[in-house]
Amino acid sequence: MNTNRWDVVVIGGGPAGLSTALTLVRARRRVLVLDSGLPRNRFAAHMHGVLGHDGKSPLTLLAEGRAEVEGYGGVIREATVVRTGRVDDGFEVEDSDGRVVLARKLVVATGLRDELPDIEGLADYWGRGVAVCPYCDGYEVRDRRIGVLATSQMSVPYTQLVRQWSSSVVYLADTVGPPTGADRMGFDARGIEIEEGAVRRVIADADGIRGVEMADGRTIDLDAIFTHPHSVALDEPLRQLGADRTETPLGSFVNVDPTGRTSVAGVWAVGNTVNAAANVPASIGAGSAAGGALNYDLVLDDVQLALGAAKEDAA
Ligand SMILES: Cc1cc2nc3c(=O)[nH]c(=O)nc-3n(C[C@H](O)[C@H](O)[C@H](O)COP(=O)(O)OP(=O)(O)OC[C@H]3O[C@@H](n4cnc5c(N)ncnc54)[C@H](O)[C@@H]3O)c2cc1C
Repeated sequence: MNTNRWDVVVIGGGPAGLSTALTLVRARRRVLVLDSGLPRNRFAAHMHGVLGHDGKSPLTLLAEGRAEVEGYGGVIREATVVRTGRVDDGFEVEDSDGRVVLARKLVVATGLRDELPDIEGLADYWGRGVAVCPYCDGYEVRDRRIGVLATSQMSVPYTQLVRQWSSSVVYLADTVGPPTGADRMGFDARGIEIEEGAVRRVIADADGIRGVEMADGRTIDLDAIFTHPHSVALDEPLRQLGADRTETPLGSFVNVDPTGRTSVAGVWAVGNTVNAAANVPASIGAGSAAGGALNYDLVLDDVQLALGAAKEDAA
């Protein structure tokens, strides 16, 4: 078994994990990033709302981030982590090829999986006309005809949010059903159209989204679709370590403090795996905060180690 001991192993090399790693390598820590190479926004050609990088490809940002981490001596390996566990003085991490590494501290930055409604064509246009985040993609379809595909009761306030970018918004009630009471009045007051019934498929051509076909055969013309998929945190490494979690309307997420510290001593978690709402800048910020807190935790350990060594010398 090939083992290596690192100050920190970061599982996941998206914006959150690479940002954590960058802070740690600049603090002169030995850092290994294990990444399976499937960032959540890989479907999108351009990224928006990321200060200094607006319009850049998400994959270019990550390539630049990897080069920065490696430039300070960080090591990044393509690997899928399948097991994490505690050992005497830290953690062991195993990848799908059976390689095991050891770490004093662990960071989980594995992101989340978007579970889209099972509608023909929807997944094919995810990130290319079908979007989740109006702050990321709303401006590009401003004043166009936007459909909001409902996935839960939270789709009502979400539709009102999307309305900020266009006065031509259609709420596709699908399996959730139409809004009632004050929600309905709010839609009427802001001119949001409501289409009841199941959506059968997305209609698109080489230029992008054209609309949707309903189960009853009607077609609704649209230029873009926003929808809020169910979020599934890819947090198996944290489950295996027994981190405390909370069930939320957005999914089940591990509890962290403002620096990303989990209930398991020595384990931090950052980005979408603990916060579905974290966009790229928020994930980078979370990584930076975690890196600083984690390094200080290592400093405190180093003080204890030095005190122990001094006592032994004196004895
Ligand atoms: C279509 C789309 C478009 C978006 N556009 C924007 C935008 O324009 N602007 C913006 O700010 N945000 C955007 N976002 C949100 C953005 O994707 C997230 O904020 C960001 O990816 C979160 O970063 P992260 O590091 O937490 O997770 P990710 O970027 O998903 O990175 C997680 C990494 O961990 C790896 N990983 C997972 N499990 C394992 C494992 N077991 N072992 C090893 N590695 C593992 C994955 O392969 C991945 O590389 C968009 C999201 C989507 C879905």
